[in-house]
Parts: sequence; structure tokens; C-alpha cells
Amino acid sequence: MNVMSTFSLAGKRALVTGGTRGIGYALARALAQAGASVVIAGRQQASLAAALAQLRNEGVAASGITLDVTQPQEIASVIAAMGRLDILVNNAGAEQVCPSLEVDEKLWDTVVGTNLKGAFFCAQAAAKSMVSAGGGGAIVNLCSLTSSVGVPGAAAYGSSKSGLAGLTRALSAEWAAHGIRVNGIGPGYFETDMTAVFYRDERWRSAMQQKIPLGRFGALEDLAGSVVFLSSDAARYITGQILYVDGGFLASI
Ligand code: NDP
Repeated sequence: MNVMSTFSLAGKRALVTGGTRGIGYALARALAQAGASVVIAGRQQASLAAALAQLRNEGVAASGITLDVTQPQEIASVIAAMGRLDILVNNAGAEQVCPSLEVDEKLWDTVVGTNLKGAFFCAQAAAKSMVSAGGGGAIVNLCSLTSSVGVPGAAAYGSSKSGLAGLTRALSAEWAAHGIRVNGIGPGYFETDMTAVFYRDERWRSAMQQKIPLGRFGALEDLAGSVVFLSSDAARYITGQILYVDGGFLASI
């Protein structure tokens, strides 16, 4: 077998939650470019339509569904109705930076409910569909540097992403029996709507950039290879791992 053919996602069907913008959009585009038939999910019809139009402009075919990942019943019915699914990218995420002394229940529930509970119920619904189709599949969870290190003001976020790393390992151990691989991607510093507030601060930018061994912030395209790899047969013996795409940040602090 030619190794390059193992990276192809031709004939695979993928769902990317939060695929309407930012990292999810870039991951959806990468999966489609690798040959997958991609469905992007987001909460708002208008942002879904805009993302699909943008993908079309880039020569990429995809379809969209509305889905709020904080709603387990909605997740179950929407994913069951999709039919066969080979790849799930649990990307939808929420962050609200806040000193821990001021975190309230609403903030905690929004962040943890989206990033951890949402990811679990999406994974469960996807795995049910994979198992009923005879097994096999790949799940990729968007983890974070905070899956491994503490960041001030990110207690809820860091808890959710550390939990997601644990969930990745737990599901990988359990669902290997069904041929389902579960891995994570840990992006370093990428400018998106979620993180834009930091990038407006010049002092933060230059201090942070100096801490990244490769000397720059991530570009969304830097994540493309990781999601294609982990979703593909090229990674067929890899499960339960988190691949950090962070310019060397975590290895150097
Ligand atoms: P953005 O805020 O730019 O995008 C978040 C996406 O998630 C949007 O498409 C949004 O769609 C969707 N979303 C949010 N809440 C829900 C929900 N309840 N149900 C369905 N979709 C939802 O974030 P990023 O692109 O920066 O982040 C993507 C992922 O990567 C997140 O999990 C984040 O934690 C992770 N990450 C990001 C890093 C970064 O530097 N940017 C670093 C490490 C990890 P809509 O609002 O239209 O529903």
C-alpha cells in the first residue's frame, strides 16, 4: 500500500461541530480537501449559510446542520438522522475569561457544558451511529494547552479541556473494541473570535510570541494536517493521544 493513499478521506463522511468559523471552519475545509464529505454544525442558520457560501467560494463542497451541543436530546436526534458517520470533530467550544473568585454557576455551566458535556454527547451519538454501521470511525476532540497546564482566569475552561483530555483517553480505551479511535488536537495560540481580545493587546502579543519556539502564532492552516492525519487510516494504530499543534510551546515551558 502506498503511504500517501492512507491519508485520503475519500468516501468518508465527517461532522465538524462549530464549523461555521475559526478553527472548526479550517478543519472542515481540510477534511473536505482530503476527500471527505463534510457536514458543518453551528447554532445559527445565518452563520451556517455564510460559512457554506465561503467554502463554496474556496472550491469546497460541504453541507450544514443546526445543532446546539449543549442539548443532548437535540444532539441524539440530529446525529441519528444524519445516517452513516465516519469522522466526528468535536470542535464547538466556549470560553469566558474570568477571575476564579468571580466565576458563577452560569459561566461554569456554559463553558463546561459546551466543551465537555457537549463533546461527550456528540461522541456518544456519533459512536452509536458508527457501531450500528458495523464499527470503525475516528473522533477528534479539540483540546487545548489548558488540557495540560494551568492558565489564570481559565478555571472553567481549563477544567473542561483537562476533562476532555481524560474523556479522550477513556473513550479510546472503551471504543477501541468497536474500531473507533479517539484522539485530541491541542492547538496552541491561534487568533479567532474566541481569542481576539488577547491579540488586541500589543504587550501580550510580543510577550507571548517570545515564548513560542517557532517564533510565531499559529495560522489556521497549521491545524489542517493534524485533523486529516488523525481522521485517516494513516493514524490507524493511534488512539487516546493528544497531538499538540503549538509551535513547540508546551515542550519548552
Ligand atoms: P470560535 O469562538 O471562533 O468558534 C467557536 C465555534 O463553536 C463557532 O463555530 C460556534 O458557532 C460554535 N459553538 C459555540 N457554542 C456552540 C454550541 N453550544 N453549539 C454548537 N456550536 C457552538 O472558537 P475557536 O475557533 O477559537 O475554537 C474552536 C475550538 O478550538 C474550541 O473548542 C476551542 O476551545 C479550541 N481551542 C482554540 C484555541 C485558539 O487559540 N483559538 C486554542 C485551543 C483550543 P455558533 O456560535 O455559530 O453556534
